[in-house]
Amino acid sequence: MPDTQSALYAHPVCGSTSLGLASQWAGPQLPPGRAAPTLAQHGAHVTLAIMPNKPLVLLVQLPIPPAGMEPVRGNVPLAAGYLKLMAQRRGLLAQFDVEVFPARLASSLGDTALAEAILRYRPYLVGFTCYLWNVERTLCLARRLKARDPSLAVLLGGPEIAADNAWVLHDEGVDYAAIGEGEQTFIELLQALAAGGPVGHIAGLWTRSQAQPPPRRTLSNLDEISSPYLEGILDAADEQLLLLETVRGCVFKCKFCYYPKSYPGLAYVSPPRILANLQYAAERGVREVVLLDPTLNQRRDFAEFLALLAQANERQTFTYFGELRAEGITPSIAELLRRANFTEVEVGLQSVASETQHLMARKNHLRAFEQGVRAMLRAGIKVKVDLIIGLPGDTPKTIRQGLHYLQNEGLYSSVQVFQLAVLPGTAFRNEAGMLGLQYQSRPPYYVLQTPTLSLAEMYDLMDEAQSALGIEYDAPPEPRPLGPCSDWPVRGATIDLDAQPDPLAQLPAAADRAQAFQLHLQASDFDRMRPAVLALVKHLLGEDPHATLELLFEPRSTPGISAETLDAIAAAAFASPSYLDRFYSLLPGSTRGAKRLVVLVPQMAVHHPWADEIAELADILPLAVPGQNAMQGCGTPTQAQSVTHTARAPA
Ligand code: SF4
Repeated sequence: MPDTQSALYAHPVCGSTSLGLASQWAGPQLPPGRAAPTLAQHGAHVTLAIMPNKPLVLLVQLPIPPAGMEPVRGNVPLAAGYLKLMAQRRGLLAQFDVEVFPARLASSLGDTALAEAILRYRPYLVGFTCYLWNVERTLCLARRLKARDPSLAVLLGGPEIAADNAWVLHDEGVDYAAIGEGEQTFIELLQALAAGGPVGHIAGLWTRSQAQPPPRRTLSNLDEISSPYLEGILDAADEQLLLLETVRGCVFKCKFCYYPKSYPGLAYVSPPRILANLQYAAERGVREVVLLDPTLNQRRDFAEFLALLAQANERQTFTYFGELRAEGITPSIAELLRRANFTEVEVGLQSVASETQHLMARKNHLRAFEQGVRAMLRAGIKVKVDLIIGLPGDTPKTIRQGLHYLQNEGLYSSVQVFQLAVLPGTAFRNEAGMLGLQYQSRPPYYVLQTPTLSLAEMYDLMDEAQSALGIEYDAPPEPRPLGPCSDWPVRGATIDLDAQPDPLAQLPAAADRAQAFQLHLQASDFDRMRPAVLALVKHLLGEDPHATLELLFEPRSTPGISAETLDAIAAAAFASPSYLDRFYSLLPGSTRGAKRLVVLVPQMAVHHPWADEIAELADILPLAVPGQNAMQGCGTPTQAQSVTHTARAPA
């Protein structure tokens, strides 16, 4: 078991809500060797103080925000595991405690609860792994942590940390930022801090006094960091999932991709080390091994590599998934993939237009692509094909050609269509002005205009692709009342506005709330209660600005909530868009962002003109029995029958 998961919890008892929450929770786990927690009882709350023996470096990775109320899965803090492993191997654990913040907490707590949980560790330095889906939330959290404890230092790393991403680097919550590969930079920073010396001349390390650090040379041998699983820092049994990186760097130079600029060369994990990781996966009951390598078949020894994967999975106890280029996949290679137990692979097509391929520095050989995809399909491997809308040079006509090409040739099992993201650290980011690319200034950095595509055209093409290819973009789960449950963190609250003179007092404490939170409101007349609803929404989003917030309105009469009131509530909810709001804002169809308005309507009123009118602004959730809102507890679906969606966040 990883040491971050081997000790006991202590936790504040939940405050009362109308859900009747039970008084139990699970809080931060203590690694062995750390001094015992100090527990103190303050009325209904138990507080935990963790007393580090040495300065504590806490490594945190926030998840992709959930689109609905379902628990987050797959937020494996692999980068944090690498850092701890390097610190261990370089002898730095004599000077520092280095801990990985438990993924289960990182993936479930709301913003305020996260800050409280992190502060309970009393960290000296908090390191965050930043991806486009978590960087804004990370910065918000970093500012909150530093406001509460000005002596605490913050280090950022990950793909969002690039010299051309000034809005991140200059945020007041940042002390240090590792540009490029982070492990060696992290080690040298800890060494400098341990020595009490200056940190100003570390390659790859951005500080306020070193805004242009010398470039960091990447690791030449990935055995140095392989792997946090084998050293017990991460446990693949947690999600029966093992993330395995056997190569860093890519021989291709696609201009939309982060790899070419960040990893100029290639570095490998040795075959014995790969085998050790896979044997571990089998022992821990892993069901899927996801290979993170940029392009699996860029290896010259690809056939031998597949034989190694097959050898480690003789009994086919787990499946493999990875990304590769379809070009060059022969029937015999496809057979080796199948023998290893690849059940699905992802391949990029991106665009069929030669001008676009030239501009993105990625040449597609369509004959070879077709042969490769067909060989894999014939071998029984599913092929997920990626297309990008918004590439420079592409026009509505060439994008349609790409869609029709896939469709007519039957060259896929599934298709993912992405809007181009002009990512930091990529050639496209560098050349955006020259190429005439306009894009969102904050993640996901979606392109908004190219010389040959307007935003309206891209939106229509996304819609067209959805219908033509029979796909649905990241549809959030259907809403349903959660009902009473005793989970911690607290996932929802039901408040009867007619009965509660002070609704704000009925909310569970922010320190106990989950990132995905459902507020279920009941009232006879929501128009009259509009100020109270607005106050609740502003209060919740003030404390947890990056929450996934589901607002359920259950009127006791029909019509019990007007379009004007829903409009005002939506305006308050989307006043400060988060990542998920921006992500969904350019997707056609039924989605709307991190905030969702849902009106519970008795079955008999579903076809009432009022319901049609408010369906422009909220999801309509019909209830089978009037007045029965079917709260059956977290995890039990209710009678949701059909849902319509329309309200949108600003782009
Ligand atoms: S998109 Fe894929 S093939 Fe292209 S540079 Fe990136 S990792 Fe390599």
